[in-house]
Amino acid sequence: MKASPDHLTIHEAHRLLQSKQLSSVELTKSYLERISQVEPRVRAFITLTDELALEQARKADERIASGEATPLTGIPVLIKDVICTRGVRTTCASRILENFVPIYDATVVERLKKCGAVLIGKANMDEFAMGSSTENSAFFVTHNPWDLSRVPGGSSGGSAAAVAADEVPYALGSDTGGSIRQPAGFCSVVGLKPTYGRVSRYGLVAFASSLDQIGPLTQDVTDCALVLNAIAGYDDRDSTSVPHPLPDYTQSLVGDLRGLRLGVPKEYFVEGMQAEVATAIKAAIAKLEELGAEVEWEVSLPHTPYALAVYYIIAPSEASANLARYDGVKYGFSYQADNMWESMEKTRQYGFGAEVKRRIMLGTYALSAGYYEAWYLKAQKVRTLIRWEFAQAFERFDALITPTSPTVPFKIGERVDDPLQMYLSDVCTLPINIAGVPAISIPAGFAGSLPIGMQIIGKPFSEETILKIAYAYEQATEWHKRRPNI
Ligand code: GLN
Repeated sequence: MKASPDHLTIHEAHRLLQSKQLSSVELTKSYLERISQVEPRVRAFITLTDELALEQARKADERIASGEATPLTGIPVLIKDVICTRGVRTTCASRILENFVPIYDATVVERLKKCGAVLIGKANMDEFAMGSSTENSAFFVTHNPWDLSRVPGGSSGGSAAAVAADEVPYALGSDTGGSIRQPAGFCSVVGLKPTYGRVSRYGLVAFASSLDQIGPLTQDVTDCALVLNAIAGYDDRDSTSVPHPLPDYTQSLVGDLRGLRLGVPKEYFVEGMQAEVATAIKAAIAKLEELGAEVEWEVSLPHTPYALAVYYIIAPSEASANLARYDGVKYGFSYQADNMWESMEKTRQYGFGAEVKRRIMLGTYALSAGYYEAWYLKAQKVRTLIRWEFAQAFERFDALITPTSPTVPFKIGERVDDPLQMYLSDVCTLPINIAGVPAISIPAGFAGSLPIGMQIIGKPFSEETILKIAYAYEQATEWHKRRPNI
């Protein structure tokens, strides 16, 4: 059989590779072929590493022949361009890092390589992961495969769009306030933000260090568990990494929800939410109930409305400190002027895009003497309240269920000049990063041909539980099988 990659999940591809119906080189070539067909319309890749991929595929074939394959061996992966890859340009979709080639691999990349993964490229994103539409990329906009006139979400829009368009079987993204889950919802794929500390951030270019996590974007829940198995776990190079026991996440994929208690926080059905989204998510929750879960339909998390404000103080504050390193001296773009100060100023003036500068200004303001107590410190206190509120809720519930986003994918250009409207697209995902808990977005319906995502939120380190719920729902529905016609 000469399989085409269409609709191949990781676990299906693995089976074909193991039974020698397909080699990794053939699989990789067929993805490269598919990429050459659809990429001119989708534009998910900043860098295509075709030669490297074929070289790794050849090695993977040897490994498979020797009987030492892992579930990811020989299978192509796309990495968001905010994650360092040794010898492969890592731009963060920014002019300032346009020609930056890291000299080391992020821990997650190192782990994928150890598993025999095939690195096929680097994904487009919003510059430094700041945005919700991938329109903030300094290079080009990525298009949603379900409707090319619409955004794929962001900031991991390239990763999500490529998986939805079958350009790759899976991808890695990063999520600071929703950047894995929101694009997953917009592109009808599965996206998981793990518990803060579950996956190493070593080699992830920092945006807001107390919120950032790396996670998988996949076609189904089984694949999500397989990728999490490979990338999760303690890493002594990330001081926030937690030495929590690492289960085999595929063990929780059993399709039975009896005994699980689910809560539906009413604050997430925000004003201005599209009616189709609310209807689809309520129907999805009813399905979970049918599958045996006990659902409490009206739970209250009263501090939820403050999460957006808290996030847009804390994240920019951390970003303003993290991005201070781009001064044109050590690496990246450097503007040559007559004196040092002018060089630095011009490097940042020309190197950063408008949204990144806006965040740096917001953060610098919130941290400055005289304003620190009123903004940053206050935001930290409210953050504690939000965390506490989640902890309270998780004394009663195993998981909370919400929409991933208040709307379906919006039009390219529709919100890009209105930062507040753009920020509002993450109201349902931001609180989860503030609390540091895990959450997954899975396909849960369509409004016309546009995807709707359901978010399942768990206790710290309860990825098994949310995967279990996601899997049971997926097995009982067909949404994840629909593919865009591209
Ligand atoms: N859209 C949010 C922001 O712009 C979240 C981004 C992210 O999760 N990286 O900050």
